[in-house]
Amino acid sequence: MPSKSCEQVIYGKILYGEELSLLQGYVCVKDGVIHEVVEEQTNSENILIPGFVNSHTHIGDSVCKDPCLGQCENFVVKPDLDTLVKPPDGLKHRILSETSFEHLVSSMRLSILDMLATGTTAFADFRESGVNGVAAIKEALADVNIRSRILGRPSGCNTSPDALESEIAILLSEADGLGMSGANDMDMAILEQASSLARKKHKIFAIHAAEKSRIDLENALSLDPGLLIHLTQADKTDLKAVSSASIPVAVCPRSNFITGVGMAPIQDMLSEGISVSVGTDNVMLNSVNMFSEMEFLSKVFKLDDRQVFKMCTLNGASNLGFTDIGPIKEGFGTNIVVLNGSSNNLQGIRDIIGGVVRRARPDDILSVIN
Ligand SMILES: [Zn+2]
Repeated sequence: MPSKSCEQVIYGKILYGEELSLLQGYVCVKDGVIHEVVEEQTNSENILIPGFVNSHTHIGDSVCKDPCLGQCENFVVKPDLDTLVKPPDGLKHRILSETSFEHLVSSMRLSILDMLATGTTAFADFRESGVNGVAAIKEALADVNIRSRILGRPSGCNTSPDALESEIAILLSEADGLGMSGANDMDMAILEQASSLARKKHKIFAIHAAEKSRIDLENALSLDPGLLIHLTQADKTDLKAVSSASIPVAVCPRSNFITGVGMAPIQDMLSEGISVSVGTDNVMLNSVNMFSEMEFLSKVFKLDDRQVFKMCTLNGASNLGFTDIGPIKEGFGTNIVVLNGSSNNLQGIRDIIGGVVRRARPDDILSVIN
């Protein structure tokens, strides 16, 4: 019998702890914390999984969800990444500069609500447009019960080193860290300063690297980043360097396909012991639905279901420093997605992790408790 002090009791099949062991029983929640997980016979068909952590988004481009991706030749579209997203003149940056603050906030808010509706309980956003951009996402997040890491970047308006330095200092006091475009997109001296300031303030310094080519990776590594995004083109030697520096990596498989940059060497990353998590990247390119990333990683990359599930949940929490959440386990913050195990789609699955990774969908969600 659950204790009377439980504020909420959820029965079902539970993916318990860091090992995602399958238990049958209930979870007792009290004061936003998992108070007890008790093994007990139950007829409940609920499936309790840890919430998704989306490790890399750009939700600012919620204002443009269906851009032209490139020229169509012989029925096939040839994507052009630079034309779409490269600062300062890529399509997204031109659209963002023409978007009103109110429209930006309301569009971002819809993507945040969509994350929650699709089982994501925490995310990290690369926020463009300097301090104003950070203010916009804070407003979009108001009263939404989701954990976030806001990683700002300079607006591009300040060009003198002094003005840039003070902008970066303000950004670091307003945001959870910095999310930079790439080591070759900005003066290295400024990036070095930004990285050292972030470190001093115990904030995250994250940067895209080796997305289209590995040419920027050496510089990116020299900045001692707290998180690298993509590494699509990293080779085995690069991955050894990333691993020995203990830098976690967020991969964005669906985004890499749509921009035509290829498949990240995720298997090699895992073999090197790198902590790999997953992001949906630009809302311009993808919905924020993490079920889609899981299905993709399982079926296109042929990765092991358990690894895929960890990458989309527990690894994301640790890569982003969300130490209070992660597994469904006593003492951790509430971070539970309840799936309907008797939905038309999930009824009869025998391997819970495999079933969830390969076929679960947002419409199988009964509730998100966080
Ligand atoms: Zn990105």
